[in-house]
Amino acid sequence: MNPTADPATILLIEDDASLSTALQATLKAAGYRPIPAHSAAEGLRWFNHYAPDLVLLDLGLPDRDGLTLIADIREKGATPIIVLSAREAEAMKVQALDLGADDYVQKPFGVEELLARLRAGLRHGVQSRGSVPVVRAGALTIDLGSRLVTREGQAIKLSPKEYDLLAELALNLGRTLSHKQLLAAVWGSERADIQYLRVYIGQLRQKLGMEAILSDAGVGYALANGAP
Ligand code: CA
Repeated sequence: MNPTADPATILLIEDDASLSTALQATLKAAGYRPIPAHSAAEGLRWFNHYAPDLVLLDLGLPDRDGLTLIADIREKGATPIIVLSAREAEAMKVQALDLGADDYVQKPFGVEELLARLRAGLRHGVQSRGSVPVVRAGALTIDLGSRLVTREGQAIKLSPKEYDLLAELALNLGRTLSHKQLLAAVWGSERADIQYLRVYIGQLRQKLGMEAILSDAGVGYALANGAP
C-alpha cells in the first residue's frame, strides 16, 4: 500500500463476532479501513455501498453459503476476494477459486500470513483496475503497472523474483516488512527458507545500490524512502 494513498477499504464478511473483532483490530493496526459484515446479505449491501478494495469472505455464513456470494461479487467486477475458511476439503478450495476467488486462507491462520495475502490481493486488484501506482524512492522509480524499474532514468533488469520482492517493498515504501511477511508474499509461505530472502536482497542491492534497501537486523527489510 502506498502510504500517501487513502487507506484501502477491506470488506470483512465474517459471522464469528470474536474473530471479526480481532480481524478488524488487526486490519486497522495494519493501516486498512475494515468494514464488518456479519451475514451474506449485509456483505452484499456493504459491497454495493462502499465499493471496497478487497473482500475477506468467510464461507460459513448464517443466511447463505459464502461460495454463492463469490459469483455475485464477480458479476460486479474484479474486486479481489480472499476466502477465509475452516473447511479443509481440497474440493471446496478448488470450487472457491473456480468461482472467482483470488486466494484461500485456511483457518486457523497466522496474522502475518493473512496480511501478506491481503497485500498480494490488493496489488493484483490495483493492477487489474489499471490505476497502477508509480513508486518513487530516491533515484529509483518503480512502475508497478509496466513492471519497469529505473534508476536515474536508466532501466534496471530484474529477474521475476527480484521484481516481486521489490514490488512488495515498494508498495510499503519506508515501512519495514518482516522476513515472514516477505517470504509469504514472494515465495507463498512464511516458512520458506530465509536464505532465499537474503540472497535476493543481496542481488537487489547490487542492482539498485546498497542504500536502496534498509535492514532492520533480525526483523526485516524496507525500501528506503529518500534520496540515495
Ligand atoms: Ca462462519
